[in-house]
Amino acid sequence: MLHASSGATVVDSGYGAHVPQTLSLIERAVAGKKLVRLVNTHCHSDHMGGNAAIQKKFGCRTSIPEGEAPLIDHWDEQALILAVADQRAERFRYDDTFRDGDTLEMGGYEWRVIAAPGHDPHAVMFHSPEARLLISGDALWESGFGVIFPQLFGRNTALAETRATLEAISRLQVDVVIPGHGRPFGEVGAALERAFYRLEGYEEDILRLARHCAKVMLSFSLMEKRSMPLADLPAYVARVPILAELNSRYLGMTPTAMAEWLAGELERAGAARRGRGLLWAAGS
Ligand SMILES: [Zn+2]
Repeated sequence: MLHASSGATVVDSGYGAHVPQTLSLIERAVAGKKLVRLVNTHCHSDHMGGNAAIQKKFGCRTSIPEGEAPLIDHWDEQALILAVADQRAERFRYDDTFRDGDTLEMGGYEWRVIAAPGHDPHAVMFHSPEARLLISGDALWESGFGVIFPQLFGRNTALAETRATLEAISRLQVDVVIPGHGRPFGEVGAALERAFYRLEGYEEDILRLARHCAKVMLSFSLMEKRSMPLADLPAYVARVPILAELNSRYLGMTPTAMAEWLAGELERAGAARRGRGLLWAAGS
């Protein structure tokens, strides 16, 4: 949330499943003033899932990256990684778009729009040279970046794009990064080092990326559902297109083996636990 005398702007809207929490957070943050604008760094379900509800409640102007516009116009469930990943989001409208090189006014600062393809081909980030702040979306986190999809649905440029985006960040004057997930962080050089190291691991071994991608996609679904019957998991990994394609293209497991492997990996990572015949999201 970025405040200015002309009104507040919120960047990204979170998961559809978190809408009530998102609305009350925004309500508290605007504190009686006006939410004038909702801006998206990219249109994945965990960044635009609250768009429709925010529009309904606050009637704000909504702006999205230019590259996402045709996907939103046609509600392209594949390109938006919705049904293909067993994800959902309520359809929303947008009022205008912005693109690389544009300038946005948010929170009393001018922000330059910078293309940030990789995790999402149409993603952008926002940089304020004056405040030395970067709103990075999923292009850079304190530890890593948003999942990148190996060759999937015919697209195989994500690794090279991710490298170019990280290099673009390294050329910016930034003291603090406000990421799409996790707390704001400084020490941008160290975060970039971690991100490049991770990227190199994927570049050297695409299977590592495929395995990571499968784990992230299942833990995303699990976060939304809270729990899934273990007995249904083999059918689930065979049915959800993104998991099925990762398996047929890279992993080559039986659905039963893939389900067992994924449950074990999520448990090892502390993202899930098994009990009473269910796979539970951590914390539920
Ligand atoms: Zn994303």
